[in-house]
Amino acid sequence: MERGTIIERSKEHFGEIVEEQLDRVETLKKADAWIDYGALKPVVIGIIGGDGIGPYITNEAKRVLEFLMEEKEKSGKVQFKTIEGLTIERRAELMQAIPDDVLDEIKRCHVILKGPTTTPKKGDTWPNLESANVALRRELDLFANVRPVKVPEQGIDWVFFRENTEGAYILGSKGINVTDDLAVDFKVITTQGAERIIRMAFDYAKSNNINKVTVVTKANIIKATDGKFLSVAEQIAKAYPEVECDHWFVDIFSAKLVDTKRRKEFRVVVLPNLYGDIITDEAAEFQGGVGTAGSANIGKRYAMFEAIHGSAPRMVEEGRAKYANPSSIMRAAVMLLRHIGFVEEAKKLEMALDVCTHDKKLVITGRSDGATCSEFADYVLETIQNYSY
Ligand code: NAD
Repeated sequence: MERGTIIERSKEHFGEIVEEQLDRVETLKKADAWIDYGALKPVVIGIIGGDGIGPYITNEAKRVLEFLMEEKEKSGKVQFKTIEGLTIERRAELMQAIPDDVLDEIKRCHVILKGPTTTPKKGDTWPNLESANVALRRELDLFANVRPVKVPEQGIDWVFFRENTEGAYILGSKGINVTDDLAVDFKVITTQGAERIIRMAFDYAKSNNINKVTVVTKANIIKATDGKFLSVAEQIAKAYPEVECDHWFVDIFSAKLVDTKRRKEFRVVVLPNLYGDIITDEAAEFQGGVGTAGSANIGKRYAMFEAIHGSAPRMVEEGRAKYANPSSIMRAAVMLLRHIGFVEEAKKLEMALDVCTHDKKLVITGRSDGATCSEFADYVLETIQNYSY
């Protein structure tokens, strides 16, 4: 192909991307107000099992939630709704990241507790489908991925705010192979997209009496997009004089997470999408691995809570699904309860999970030499009942 034609085609492709993103900015400017859960009766909690180990761990989390919310369910304050059909089999059959009927049901809920969903990769037997999570984040505009990581005995008490709808991911499938030798991807940061996640991190710090927010970028190299993220953070910080704002480059920040002295200083961390993805998995490792960590995907109208790990197909193939650790999704359930305003119930579950993890009366190993997820859930329920709060 002639160089002139290649350039014209590339310009056209880039033009389409810019047009789409300018429209997005206009939508972001008309930001919705935050939903008020206190005014809802009932708050509808959707439960989605997902794939692989998902239904195993999600069922146990549901059992615990229903126990904690028994009275509130009876009085009509909350309602649980099980949503079937967000499975890889059904998604592949319909060739949809989220089947339409499932998305309708999800949109009739206020918050979702979701088991992990499989995303086909190259070479899989499944057709090439978009990740259900990426689609859900987009459809429900879940712009903030919030992941707490706590290891009290090491002085680790971090909350990560990862931007969920921009950065290197939003246009991940829109990169171009300009020629056989030249590939180009695109990364996007908008003022509005950066503002809403950074403001959320500062608000969280302020309302929890935490006096520092750390912004992580690579703004020295990725100057336009990361540069914008950083300058928006510097602007927003001015409105929170009681909260110190510091900035780290992602390479040295990831190194400092393993520096036992320095890492105690980090508390609330806000990062663009890709860095957030990588750093939060690293951070979860200090807590005992992905089986122990939950996360929240928050938007102004909807919120979705899940484990940070995937569907663990190997555990299923090897007949070990029932030994999966449900702590991850139960930690997500704690975040869900707190998000919708049931702080007492959240504290009870959190305390019970801390006790059950540290007592080690029952240990989950992911194998038959450890407890099953159902036995662990019984232990959590027993602890909730017996513990004096
Ligand atoms: P994975 O997180 O599913 O599993 C990796 C390993 O971690 C497992 O083999 C297992 O040893 C361990 N593990 C994970 N969860 C555990 C638990 N609760 N208890 C005990 N051990 C646990 O990672 P993967 O194999 O890379 O991904 C599998 C699938 O999940 C892929 O299709 C991927 O796209 C998808 N995925 C989904 C989500 C999500 O829905 N939020 C997140 C990540 C990956």
